[in-house]
Amino acid sequence: MSFDWRRRLSSGLGLRIGLWYAAIFATSAVLLGGATYALLSAVLQQRDQEIVVSTLREYAARYEAGGLLALARAVDLEQRSGRHERLFVRVLGAGRDALFISLPPEWGEFDVDRLGADGADRSGGWSRAPARGREALLEVASARVRDGSIIQVGKSTENRSELLRQFRTVAILASTLMIIVGLAGGVVLTRSTLRPVRNLADVVRGIVRTGRTEARVPVPESGDAIAELSTLFNAMLDRINTLIGAMRDSLDNVAHDLRTPLTRLRGLAERALASGDAAEQREALADCIEQSDRILAVLNTLMDISEAETGALRLRTAPVALDALVGEVVGLYDEVADDKQIEVTVHAAQTVVAMADRDRLRQALANLLDNALKYTGRGGRVVIETQAGDGRATIMIRDTGAGIAPDELPRIWERLYRGDRSRAERGLGLGLSLVRAYIVAQGGEVTAASIPGEGSTFTVRLPLARP
Ligand code: ADP
Repeated sequence: MSFDWRRRLSSGLGLRIGLWYAAIFATSAVLLGGATYALLSAVLQQRDQEIVVSTLREYAARYEAGGLLALARAVDLEQRSGRHERLFVRVLGAGRDALFISLPPEWGEFDVDRLGADGADRSGGWSRAPARGREALLEVASARVRDGSIIQVGKSTENRSELLRQFRTVAILASTLMIIVGLAGGVVLTRSTLRPVRNLADVVRGIVRTGRTEARVPVPESGDAIAELSTLFNAMLDRINTLIGAMRDSLDNVAHDLRTPLTRLRGLAERALASGDAAEQREALADCIEQSDRILAVLNTLMDISEAETGALRLRTAPVALDALVGEVVGLYDEVADDKQIEVTVHAAQTVVAMADRDRLRQALANLLDNALKYTGRGGRVVIETQAGDGRATIMIRDTGAGIAPDELPRIWERLYRGDRSRAERGLGLGLSLVRAYIVAQGGEVTAASIPGEGSTFTVRLPLARP
């Protein structure tokens, strides 16, 4: 796998997101500028036309009242007042001959002879005359007065066009600036946003290259989704580390624990080979099979313990009625108890229901009862009691056996540990390790208390099932 390729992809991603930001930014700016331009142009045109129409109305009234002279005076007065920019005013007689004309000198290039009298008989009509050599129009409104003459008032679009041209220049400049700022800002922003992702990729790259899982991703203080991803990634690395550590320990333990029985097995086979006696050899082979079975049993139990301790064990947790389960386990050991004349008493409350994996709990209780019977002498007693309290279900297995010495008590949970006085009994020294691993995996705990010479009590505590 090429990491340069990935690096290029991640920096390309930053650029791509930056370009997208800039494109959206620029499109919005252009759309906004266009809409403002259209609105401004419409408003300016409307304002110009309002000026023309209201002036036309005023002049028509003057003409009606005092004839051409009154109109000429009004135009003169208006122009001198400088209320707004100058207007084109013309009166056409009944024969369409110009009786009066007022045209600002700088508008000489407008071809006013070609102007019609559109809208003279109804409002809303406009006639337009283009300028020669310039991009401007003279927009003219006309009105017919009672004597049949036509009065025309007009305004050049030049000022309006100049204003819009300036607006266009400013808008293009502003949009260009906005696109540059948007592009630069987008690239900087996405680069800083993607930095934690690049850090994550760097750590993963380091782990893939070296195989060392100690590296951790720096968690950004932003508390956002990327911070959560980094935290989860670190937690995952912690979990992987724990699992790897546990597997390594298990492997060491298995290798160490199997050395003794395998050496013994080899010794048996060697001795059998050296001896020429057929009967002795047969006996040695039988011993070899026994040793092999023992090794297999040790291996299987060690695997079960490892699975439970590393969390790889699949548990089927469900409410378990303890009275029924204890009854089942006691039933399994009826014969053993009878043989040793040990009285097994059960004080099981019907109401105690624990959350547990039924099969694993039965196996754990069976191991505890097996030990109680194994380490209790003839005529002894074993009492099994179940209780509920403090949100926990408790199972106590009490015996009147030899008990455990205080210095041995903490060690009984170790793998392959066997008490000094227990060597005569059958066993692998793995029973209690398995009990503890199973109970802890189910969210419970198991403890032991003992008074040497009087007996031992093993207590299992598990979560209670909700009623
Ligand atoms: P095993 O019974 O195969 O030796 P375990 O892991 O079950 O291995 O027990 C470990 C040791 O704890 C035993 O060897 C024994 O010394 C001690 N032990 C366990 N249960 C009892 C008990 N009920 N009474 C006295 N000693 C016990």
